[in-house]
Amino acid sequence: MKSCKDVSYQLSTGDLAHTSLVERIGVWLHLAMCRNCRAFSRQLGAMARAARGAASATEAEPRESFEREIVERLRQR
Ligand SMILES: [Zn+2]
Repeated sequence: MKSCKDVSYQLSTGDLAHTSLVERIGVWLHLAMCRNCRAFSRQLGAMARAARGAASATEAEPRESFEREIVERLRQR
């Protein structure tokens, strides 16, 4: 079984997509059982989406749904 440290490291580096299937299954299994790492994974996802949103906002006008999406995102926490 992977440790929280292993899992959080792999999640935060984004290495997961490039690792073996066995590695990924190990992370998934850990996430399935570990609340803390699930929360961490969600936060990372939210940060990545926010970063992409911020990047695209500098290139183009925010979409109409942008504000609504942020509100919905905040409500999910
Ligand atoms: Zn964990």
